[in-house]
Amino acid sequence: MSEESKLREEICRIGRRLYERRLTSGAGGSISARTSKNEVLIKPSGFSLTDMMPEHIIKMNLRGEVLEGRYPPSTDAPWHLTIYEVRSDVNAIVHAHPPICGGFACAGVSLDIPTFTEVIIQIGKIPFMDYVTPTTMDYARKVAESLKDVNALLMKNHGIITLGANLEQAFQRAELLEDFAKMVLIAKILGGPIILPEEEVHKLRTLESEKWRMKIVEELYK
Ligand SMILES: [Zn+2]
Repeated sequence: MSEESKLREEICRIGRRLYERRLTSGAGGSISARTSKNEVLIKPSGFSLTDMMPEHIIKMNLRGEVLEGRYPPSTDAPWHLTIYEVRSDVNAIVHAHPPICGGFACAGVSLDIPTFTEVIIQIGKIPFMDYVTPTTMDYARKVAESLKDVNALLMKNHGIITLGANLEQAFQRAELLEDFAKMVLIAKILGGPIILPEEEVHKLRTLESEKWRMKIVEELYK
């Protein structure tokens, strides 16, 4: 099986996992992955992430031209492509509408809270993007600008975007972000999350063990 065929299968597998974990519903959400420096595979418009098959996936270049595919690409394509242009370290993007993260997004409450070790280590900062009408070029620019040096984004009145060196990492960040939103909600009910001091946050972000874990993820899911 070619590298591209494997990547098409992997996009569908991640789509099913997002759906099974209830991180998105209906035809919501989008996934893409880079096949080479200037080409990506992306979900077709209108398809549910759980029903998408490898042959439905669209191949595009970063200029926005469709190279292969029978369907129009996801309406999220403009900002996926803009992210790949500005982030050479990113090879996969997941966008989902998880209900608890969505609750924070719709209530206008940020999730950028340094309180849970795993999120500090695996995700880092989670900026909160102001509302912009989805599918517009303004939206694409704002998303790319917000993600220029972070791996996750919460978008007001909308949902989340997570980035990764590969699809597994982008998915795991989305999964972790939704679990984190539940934790913060419960912590707020119990009196509010306890914020870790700046020095501790720095220590967590530079852990040696995390470099090892990243190597494993890269080897397992390359
Ligand atoms: Zn969306």
